[in-house]
Amino acid sequence: MFEHPLPTTIKPVKLARQEGKLIGFMPLKQLVNLAADCVSDQGRVEADLALKMEQARPELHGSASADVKLVCQRCLEPVDVRVEVKIALGFVQTEAQMAELPESLEPFMLEEEEIPLAELLEQELILALPIVAYHSACEPYPYEGKEAAEAAVDEKPNPFAVLEQLKGKTNKPD
Ligand SMILES: [Zn+2]
Repeated sequence: MFEHPLPTTIKPVKLARQEGKLIGFMPLKQLVNLAADCVSDQGRVEADLALKMEQARPELHGSASADVKLVCQRCLEPVDVRVEVKIALGFVQTEAQMAELPESLEPFMLEEEEIPLAELLEQELILALPIVAYHSACEPYPYEGKEAAEAAVDEKPNPFAVLEQLKGKTNKPD
């Protein structure tokens, strides 16, 4: 399973009429916007999707997953995260069609006959990214130690400040 690369572009209406399936993988690199939210663009996205016509409307159902690296909010090192989504999309071409869409379907506005599959997948996967990611066990990043080190640097006397002090002394009325 998932040994076949997914097509770069799809024609949703045509595929739905043919009851087409999209089962395979895509390098994370191709999902530019999703990769931009990750620490690395190494990894892959897998999808198991089926298209069909339902009341003259092309629909897409299935699931997608991605193994990505995010920044652990505790130690600030990369952490492997698996993102999984269930997908139920209705393709629409007008606002009116969008309004008629059942609530169980998410609208996908089709502006072209052929669309990049990566765009569709990343729309789903980006929403599924966790807001914060953590390792199951790791040491917190030593913020306090870092701040203390920075503070120590700031304690070096600033020559201008010394000059100001001297000025202040001279101007100070006795
Ligand atoms: Zn961590």
